[in-house]
Amino acid sequence: MPENKLRFAPSPTGDLHIGNARTLILNYVYSKSISGELILRIDDTDKDRSEERFYSSIMKDVEWLKISISAIERQSSKTEKYIKIRDYLIKEGYLYPCYETDEELNRLRKVSLSSGLPPIYDRASLKLTKQEIKDHEANGIKPYWRFKLDRENITWNDLIRGEQTIACNSFSDPVLIRADGTFLYTLPSVVDDIDMGITHVLRGEDHVSNTATQIQLFKILGSNIPNFGHHSLMVQKDGSRMSKRIGSMSLKDIRDSGIEPMTLLNYCARIGTSDAIEAFQSIDQLVNNYSLTKISRSPARFSFEELMGLNKKVIQNISFRTLDKRLMDLDIDGKDVEVFWDTVKTNINTINEAQKWWNIVKDDKINIDLTQINRDFLKIAQETLPNTPWNDKTWSIWTDQISQKTGLKGRELFLPLRIALTGENSGPELAKFILLLGRDLVLRRLNI
Ligand code: GLU
Repeated sequence: MPENKLRFAPSPTGDLHIGNARTLILNYVYSKSISGELILRIDDTDKDRSEERFYSSIMKDVEWLKISISAIERQSSKTEKYIKIRDYLIKEGYLYPCYETDEELNRLRKVSLSSGLPPIYDRASLKLTKQEIKDHEANGIKPYWRFKLDRENITWNDLIRGEQTIACNSFSDPVLIRADGTFLYTLPSVVDDIDMGITHVLRGEDHVSNTATQIQLFKILGSNIPNFGHHSLMVQKDGSRMSKRIGSMSLKDIRDSGIEPMTLLNYCARIGTSDAIEAFQSIDQLVNNYSLTKISRSPARFSFEELMGLNKKVIQNISFRTLDKRLMDLDIDGKDVEVFWDTVKTNINTINEAQKWWNIVKDDKINIDLTQINRDFLKIAQETLPNTPWNDKTWSIWTDQISQKTGLKGRELFLPLRIALTGENSGPELAKFILLLGRDLVLRRLNI
């Protein structure tokens, strides 16, 4: 059994977005680099916001990325365990009931700030007498529960950020349980990490301050403390924040735009690191020499154009054998498929775009507008078209002849031919492309 265990712990309250994908991929690549396993933990304690459809979409994303996970754990099925730990923490005095309303807390915060003090909760509820607590209960007020922090400094050696120290007197005792009895993220996460034997916790730096509280909980519960690593967050390419509404693409959007899983793996593993992003063909290549310390402290800037540029490189290197089925799904099939792929692969960003070129090769009825092209030019092109058999010299023999007869050269010679034969202003190398079209079709396309 592998000793190293990591987990990716999304909440099923929305579709995974590119930032979550990065956390997932870092966990996956790092787990492989230390021969560990990766568990998918679904953080669905928030019953109101968690939805089954988001759970299914997370599963689909993980499958699409071909990320192998060793187990799936759902927090919603573990409430009993959390309740047991809750009762223990209450009994030992680590959790205390609080009754202040949000308005009261806001007022207290303002008072502290205006007297130049940090807005830290003053533990007033901790000083309530038994009678006062009874009175609250008699009035039907249910408490929420705060964790009584040890006001020590907590230090850990972060796998990404190096040594970190958090002073636990610099923030309020965190609320771990809501008045309706439901658990906030902090405690269930620790209970599960202990239960599952998690050795490494890799997550976004928005969790750095939770880590101090969680380390205290690990200690109280008598457990080893996992290694923590906090990566910088992802921002848009202009440096602005990603939000669910703007800039943050879901994995579904990314998939639908024709990005390959391997492209996203390559991109997310290397973005925001001192290593160049490369078009590796396999996860093993990516995992070799992988180092978390290369992740920069500054935010990773997401650029969809960069991702698409990488996709172009990735698909150029996919072996034809792997691709065969994908092309068949697009109805690209037949004896010249391999030659076709070789001809078009450098001119497309996504595999789906191959379909357009396949139609141009196979569809006799595509509508090409020849009205912009000089009639005499087309006539000369028809008359000089070499007889079969054709080979890779045919194109230059043909265009030399047209050039001699028309005096045209370069773009003036090639662009009208490209438009007449493909209907496009740019595209694959025509010397190869005409071999796919064949003489009959070329002749018909030159017909005015
Ligand atoms: N559900 C938490 C989140 O999505 C998990 C954080 C963690 O990895 O500990 O932010």
